[in-house]
Amino acid sequence: MLPALTGLSPDSLATWLKEAGEPSFRATQILEWVWKKKVPSIDAMSNLPAALREKLSASFRLAALEHTHTQGSADTTRKFLFKLHDGRYVESVLIPANPALYGETSDRRTLCVSSQVGCAYGCKFCASGLAGFTRNLDPSEIAGQVLAAEQLSGERVDNLVFMGMGEPLANLDHLLAAIQLITGEKTLHLGARHLTVSTSGLVPQIRQLAEHPQQIRLAISLHGATDEVRQQIMPINRKWPVAELFEALDFWNAKKNQKLTLEYILIDGVNDSLEQAAILGRHARRLHAKVNLIPYNTVEGLDWKRPSDTRCRAFRDVLKQAGVSATLRLEKGHDIDAACGQLRLKQETEEGIISPAPAKR
Ligand code: SF4
Repeated sequence: MLPALTGLSPDSLATWLKEAGEPSFRATQILEWVWKKKVPSIDAMSNLPAALREKLSASFRLAALEHTHTQGSADTTRKFLFKLHDGRYVESVLIPANPALYGETSDRRTLCVSSQVGCAYGCKFCASGLAGFTRNLDPSEIAGQVLAAEQLSGERVDNLVFMGMGEPLANLDHLLAAIQLITGEKTLHLGARHLTVSTSGLVPQIRQLAEHPQQIRLAISLHGATDEVRQQIMPINRKWPVAELFEALDFWNAKKNQKLTLEYILIDGVNDSLEQAAILGRHARRLHAKVNLIPYNTVEGLDWKRPSDTRCRAFRDVLKQAGVSATLRLEKGHDIDAACGQLRLKQETEEGIISPAPAKR
């Protein structure tokens, strides 16, 4: 399979053109066709000589992803399913402007992007972990989701969250290369401040990302304020317990001036006690972090339940009383399997690529 043109950095493209004996100004033209005009084929790059288009086509395919399916409509959360060159699938979710996002009204379009096929981290609430880990996405497959979502929707993506399938920090090199394509002036040119990387808590990589010069945002999938509660939900907590995670977040705060976000899925009888709320409140206040509370979304094959609305509000109120900025997220996409990994899981199961086993507790 030829490499995707969308995986080439401007520098790599310049090098390729030089080696192909082509003038350097062609790089600007090609980048404009790919990333700004978002053409569907190399043949559509009409100001390139036919011979160069032929050379390009002999060396590259244009896109890394083939769009196969959309769920939802322009007014609602849309979920795009993409087929990869090896027959696997990934999905991206586009949350439209204006409906409430994270409990606040938003006038921005947010895209939730996948970073791996499957995931090795096995968080107990998550469909992506059900069939295990297959492989990392490469930079063209990560950045390509943004390009494809803009092509398919005809809209500009304003915010990006790396919260789809996979643990982005377990694929850090490719993630950073994709971020260069997403933020680069000659490529997608989205501001780094509009990018949020969400992690289950990979401590060494949090420290590494803290040293990265761009002002990327960080969200932590916390879901428990003590080791005892968190490790029922997040197996990674056995490797990097809460105290080590919070030390890494202190390091993050020392390096960045972006407010941290703590994600907390409320699961009935598991992590929704008011005692957990009080401990979470103390940590969040010290870290100057905001907290997103997300009532549990039912996942086929898992038997946890969502707490009552009264319980969710009581948990939020404890945080607010502790002086923490906390939102109870009004969920989007509940009706279209928006929990990460669910659409891909269905597709790959139907095609017999995987046969997911029920999660073990
Ligand atoms: S929540 Fe993220 S890190 Fe955890 S299993 Fe799902 S995809 Fe992996």
